[in-house]
Amino acid sequence: MPSSMQKASSAVSPTRLATLDNVKTLLLLYVVWTNSLKVYRHLCARGITSTLTDVYKWVAQQVVFLALRMPQMKKKVETEMAKAKIDIESKLVPQGPNVIRHLSLPSQGKTSDWIVQEMERMDAEMGNEVNWRNGKLSGAVYHGGPDMEQIIVAAFQRYCVSNPLHPDVFPAVRKMEAEIVAMCLRMYSNPDGAGTTTSGGTESIVMAVKTHREWAKEVKGITEPEMIIPASAHAAFDKAANYFKIKLHSIPVDPATRQVDLKRVKRAINANTIMLVGSAINFPDGNIDPIPELGELAKKHDIGLHVDCCLGSFIVPFLEEAGYGEFPDFEGKGNKKKVPLFDFRVPGVTSISCDTHKYGFAPKGSSVVMYRNAELRKHQYYLNPEWMGGVYASPGLAGSRPGSLIAGAWAAMQYMGRDGYLASAKSIVACARKIGQAITDSIPELYVLGNPPASVIAFASRSPEVNVLEVGDMMSRKGWHLNGLTNPAAVHIACTRLTVPIVDTFIADLKDAVQEAKLRPSGQGSMVAVYGLGNSSAVGPKMVNRLATAFLDALYKA
Ligand SMILES: *Cc1c(COP(=O)(O)O)cnc(C)c1O
Repeated sequence: MPSSMQKASSAVSPTRLATLDNVKTLLLLYVVWTNSLKVYRHLCARGITSTLTDVYKWVAQQVVFLALRMPQMKKKVETEMAKAKIDIESKLVPQGPNVIRHLSLPSQGKTSDWIVQEMERMDAEMGNEVNWRNGKLSGAVYHGGPDMEQIIVAAFQRYCVSNPLHPDVFPAVRKMEAEIVAMCLRMYSNPDGAGTTTSGGTESIVMAVKTHREWAKEVKGITEPEMIIPASAHAAFDKAANYFKIKLHSIPVDPATRQVDLKRVKRAINANTIMLVGSAINFPDGNIDPIPELGELAKKHDIGLHVDCCLGSFIVPFLEEAGYGEFPDFEGKGNKKKVPLFDFRVPGVTSISCDTHKYGFAPKGSSVVMYRNAELRKHQYYLNPEWMGGVYASPGLAGSRPGSLIAGAWAAMQYMGRDGYLASAKSIVACARKIGQAITDSIPELYVLGNPPASVIAFASRSPEVNVLEVGDMMSRKGWHLNGLTNPAAVHIACTRLTVPIVDTFIADLKDAVQEAKLRPSGQGSMVAVYGLGNSSAVGPKMVNRLATAFLDALYKA
């Protein structure tokens, strides 16, 4: 009936509408408040200048993308991309009608003789890529000496089918895994701590980030986690932030010391911060972040601090004993500065990653992540009490795991021993310091980035006549496989036991390469093309992403 409806609606209006208005206003205020807080925190972390630069870059990018949508431009980009794709594939995948391809299972199984012969044939057919044994490459093969391959193969053979997911079936593998972790914990000054093995540095880092996220959620109630890393930290941290939806603040490094800018780290910390990160040493230029200062910040704000020793692994813990406890003083300024503490002796350090498969010389697929205590490690575990397949508990990303790799890592560590690692650290750091000294003393066109204390030396150009990426290209022509870096453009070498005996060749080749790059600058070598594209133009990153995708696709072309 109309009258009762009118009565009902008029009953709603005055007071209730007022409260509805209040709720709306409150809601609006809440939205405005949370978003302003986000903007404010973002500005604190990035600073106004870099935020404006980011905005400018974004606008420039949108303009270029719009231009690229025009039919003619689009066609041109697509043809260039198609060409680049074919180029990438032709370098990786064997071409031609004579290539034998094994695309489906053989209808009848082959003999072991056939298998070995076929592998030999394939190696010959593919030119076996780089001859890594000549030592002309940066990192990649962390070789433990001539006998190590035998030691590892023997361990593989003995524990070939073992799987630590079933410790009752393979008790010795369980023991070896626990011992690998225990040995690393002692090396990093935390015998009462806890840890697990993982499949590599990336998994160690991803697990440490996950652990801190769960810890912060449970203990501090943080549901919108943020983390703060040096711009020189490994890409695995970006990967973890990407996988686990964590907001990432990447803080620039000081151009001279190559250490993370502490003031900006401080500014970026807020109530949502779960952890800080420092590297000892970092991948790009081998420098070490100020771990004690980062530890102080972490303690003060009750947040985590992960120290990435993936690369530092079995070198940094031996620096002092090896006689390299001081930073290099390439310029001879008499700066005798001690390399500060980097491990669990630093209050505030909550986790450390250490790659047994780098300078530990274990087979690839082996790393360790360590925590200050077992309480923190709990947050790494995955537990499912209600699975139809039974109660399920696993420490890391993997379910079934290769026990053979654990046995291989354990064997490598037993074979090397403290004396073995000490000797290898001595020779490797001596090699890196010799390169750094030679660059400073006798290649005026180049300079060493920061004060790298351990195994990595990165160099950039101080001469407008020399493009350092082109120097990298010249080095490739001399058979070297080095890494190109950006920000600034630079090239690095991670010294290994294989580089030690040919360090003088490296220095001589580098001197020649600089002269050649000066005399005949082409500006279009492969390092120049790929790394130059990365950040120099508005569309660089997007185009590089497309090329990188094409590269990954090509890896799976049989
Ligand atoms: C190699 C490396 C990693 C990651 O290791 P992977 O074993 O390649 O996954 C992480 N941090 C640093 C500094 C590294 O050099």
